[in-house]
Amino acid sequence: MKKNFKVETKLVQSLEEFKEGEPRVYPLVQSTTYNYKDPDFVADLFNLTESGYFYSRIGNPTVQAFENKIAQLEGGVGAVAVSSGQAATTMAILNICNSGDHIVACSTIYGGTFTLLSSSLKKLGIDISFFGPDSSENEILALFKDNTKALFGESIGNPGLNVLDFEKLSNAAKKAGVPFIVDNTIATPYLCRPIEHGANIVIHSATKYIDGQASCLGGIVVDAGNFNWNNGKFPGLVEPDPSYHGLSYHEAFKEAAYIAKARTHILRDFGAALSAFNAFIYLRGLETLHVRMDRHSENALKVAEFLEGHENVAWVNYPKLKSDKYYALADKYLEKGGSGIILFGIKGGAKEGLEFTKKLNWINNVVHLGDVRTCVLHPGSTTHRQLTDEEQIAAGVRPEAIRLNVGIENVDDIINDLKQALQ
Ligand code: PLP
Repeated sequence: MKKNFKVETKLVQSLEEFKEGEPRVYPLVQSTTYNYKDPDFVADLFNLTESGYFYSRIGNPTVQAFENKIAQLEGGVGAVAVSSGQAATTMAILNICNSGDHIVACSTIYGGTFTLLSSSLKKLGIDISFFGPDSSENEILALFKDNTKALFGESIGNPGLNVLDFEKLSNAAKKAGVPFIVDNTIATPYLCRPIEHGANIVIHSATKYIDGQASCLGGIVVDAGNFNWNNGKFPGLVEPDPSYHGLSYHEAFKEAAYIAKARTHILRDFGAALSAFNAFIYLRGLETLHVRMDRHSENALKVAEFLEGHENVAWVNYPKLKSDKYYALADKYLEKGGSGIILFGIKGGAKEGLEFTKKLNWINNVVHLGDVRTCVLHPGSTTHRQLTDEEQIAAGVRPEAIRLNVGIENVDDIINDLKQALQ
């Protein structure tokens, strides 16, 4: 019955079954380990023939309640929560890529993901080819090789704010026989559900809107359960795993093979588990996600319109602005709102941009987004600092660009601070 709830009700209501008299709020189970009298049962847990908790690196009730909720919100068959958004991207890729493999990714992605793909994973022998967000399907397909194992993009690119052309990318991934992995951090499952548009794996930095309070680092990987791993390209999911007593994930877990391997193999070995406390906070945060995202989106549109009309502003990127290059895609994929991030350029360039951020009265410079409190950031000198000038431009960041995280305060107060600083 609960599966048929609309998204707002799924967010507010616990999707876990409660027995009579159990707490209203899903409890924080702050325990690394679990008691058993029967050693045979514990052996069966390790054998995956019984289900239950035995060690919180692999599974914890509070973390699992969070995983179940996100899986249901995104429409997936399962999810694995991890210690940060970066861990989520890393785990999602290492679950299917080995040294000698290759990934195709959109260039307009979060700076940390760009360096993860172009530097750290490259050092592990996983090669990468980037394409621009406006590349044609054929241009993207031309990048695929025999060893390509995934296509990667962000539903709303951070910080360029391009909206992913799901139809084009999911078609390309299908033709190439690889999973389409989408980072849905900025859109959240309230504004966009990538699986409905052809994604196979969805990831989040839960640190952002899912928390909404800037208090807890975390991430999550969701498996849509809609990809055929038995197409000859993914032996790690199909052939017996010697590190798991010869188990074939594909045979044992059917459509949930990917997420089962992510937990039993990748999380077990790399250990980037989410803390139960952070999962508890995320469950609280999710209950208000829809209300917050409506207000973030409403305020951001008003602020974007104000900025667009200001004489000292050179350009504004916000997907729900009618003049925006990605308006048509936003109309198609982000029906409920454009989220709370705006990228804009001050007339004059990088120096003037930085000067503007110094003139703000109460809007602070904060390396964050998705927070209920408005803040700004100059990506060129912070999140994208490690990238070359060419890489910055490819990632959608011009030197004068300012990223504005529009919070849920009264929009007049936000506009007034921006107005006096622009003046
Ligand atoms: N994905 C996106 C779109 C992000 O904006 C970020 C961080 O800003 C990440 C992933 C990484 O998340 P975390 O900071 O939780 O590791």
